[in-house]
Amino acid sequence: MPNALERLKQKTTDLRALEAAMGLLNWDQQCYMPKGGAKARALHLSVLSRMHHEQFTSTEMGDLLAQAAEEAEPGSTDEAMVRVVKRDYDLATKLPSELVMEQARLAAEGHEVWVEARANNDFPRFAPILRRVFDLSKRVAECLGYQDHIYDALLDLYEEGATRADCLAMYEALKAETVPLVHAIASRPQNDDSFLYGEWDVERQREFTLKLVRAIGFDLERGRQDVAAHPFCTGWSVGDVRITTRFGSYLPSAIFGSLHEAGHGLYEQNSPEEWDQTPLAGGVSMALHESQSRTWENLVGRSRAFWVRFLPELQQAFPAFAGVDLDRFYRGVNRVQPSLIRVEADEVTYNLHTLVRFEIECDVLTDRLSVDDIPEAWNARYEQYLGIRPPNDAQGCLQDVHWSGGMVGYFPTYTMGNILSFQFWELLTRDLGDPYERIARGEFAPILGWLREKIYSQGRRYTPKELVRRVTGGGMDPRPYVEGLKRKYSEVYGL
Ligand code: ZN
Repeated sequence: MPNALERLKQKTTDLRALEAAMGLLNWDQQCYMPKGGAKARALHLSVLSRMHHEQFTSTEMGDLLAQAAEEAEPGSTDEAMVRVVKRDYDLATKLPSELVMEQARLAAEGHEVWVEARANNDFPRFAPILRRVFDLSKRVAECLGYQDHIYDALLDLYEEGATRADCLAMYEALKAETVPLVHAIASRPQNDDSFLYGEWDVERQREFTLKLVRAIGFDLERGRQDVAAHPFCTGWSVGDVRITTRFGSYLPSAIFGSLHEAGHGLYEQNSPEEWDQTPLAGGVSMALHESQSRTWENLVGRSRAFWVRFLPELQQAFPAFAGVDLDRFYRGVNRVQPSLIRVEADEVTYNLHTLVRFEIECDVLTDRLSVDDIPEAWNARYEQYLGIRPPNDAQGCLQDVHWSGGMVGYFPTYTMGNILSFQFWELLTRDLGDPYERIARGEFAPILGWLREKIYSQGRRYTPKELVRRVTGGGMDPRPYVEGLKRKYSEVYGL
């Protein structure tokens, strides 16, 4: 009889196969499936996820984990693997299966209702679902347990070890620095970006974005790019990572969307080969993943140096840019403008969008705000933080998909990713020297190499907080981020 560690590895590899099947079905649904496939696809996915849940939460798995924990050498990767599986196992077993089923049902039902409510700008239609979402989230939080605040239990699902107190400190620091910056920018003449809109040829957009993601190191022999309504990145092995993008009339949507997803993809493609198909493979948390997509999208892609290298090629692919010089292009793609829609927000105002959601989630979870009053609370906060008021709920509290899917506690991880990206970049700059000289020459390998060594090669070996500590020597720190933004946008807007 092989030892418990070996049997645990075998079990997790089996489960990985189910996860891969679900991932592929999901990817196909978003990229290629004909509309008529929806009903059967939902059935197939629910059967597979039930099989996965049953196998993963079996008593055999619990016994194996307990034995494997005793066999694993302290400090070894085996020990790390056992810890990772144990965390997932605990999360999966703390919730009664009727709660898990109800969550899945509500997510499926909620998505349909949300799509309709958003299309018709009909919050009352969505409100009963949203009430159930928050009620379920409260029950989930109680099952999982928490020390300080109910929010901690939910946030931990997406960002292990992060707490509401971390979020409060993070947002305080950001609010203090970015709200005045937004006002200062608003007092300056706005940057023209009208030249970024047009009837752009889809085939050329495809070719150009593929050129960019290949240039930064995304390996198209071990991945591919397709089109999806809401871009995402997925994958089932280090040798098969799928990114998606969309092609429309605002050209940066394709360009920076592709770079963003390729950033997620680079993290996955550079996970250690020997950990492939094991629980240690891939990115460690939402915030760490987002730190990488933001690095490649913003710190690299929205830099002047990047366009020193690529503007001539853009002008070749799209002759409409022939008369747009580097400076005008750079200022155009870095235009800052308070807006209503989070996913279209610029680097400076982005975190104010997640702040609104974070505050509302906390208030509803602690019964300081009722679901029916969310629209008013939402609009008042947009007015307070961004100086604009949504004219309707479709452009207000109905805009995001997360709540309809039961994801309460997710939004702060986007902002954590923004902050971490600048922290890592500061250290990368210290180690490599000015990365922008290399970027202007199209040399991305040293940057990718640094990120691979420090972050990608670590997979899920350490907890997110431990990984951040190992890379930075401390915890999450908003300073490099706010200083970086102030430096960049003072120059962009001549403050
Ligand atoms: Zn992302």
